[in-house]
Amino acid sequence: MGNFQIQHDRPNCIACGVCESIAPEFWEMDKNDGKSNLKACKKVGHEEHRDIDEHTFEENREAADRCPVNIIHIVNKETGERLI
Ligand code: SF4
Repeated sequence: MGNFQIQHDRPNCIACGVCESIAPEFWEMDKNDGKSNLKACKKVGHEEHRDIDEHTFEENREAADRCPVNIIHIVNKETGERLI
């Protein structure tokens, strides 16, 4: 069980590939529509969610930071605060 949750607004992905290049263990580009997929996620509506812990927080924070359309978010699951 992770302390944080990644939330990916996939429909608005512009398929730039930045997230995959930063954190390839979590992100991969889809061969069909070219957008990124959050690996091992659960689908929640149009979003992809995945719990992570503090060990993998930093690389995903960087991916979220550098997403040019700001559609990757990370939420603190204990407080509900959106960190990015
Ligand atoms: S960085 Fe953002 S826009 Fe680029 S592929 Fe990843 S989710 Fe899509």
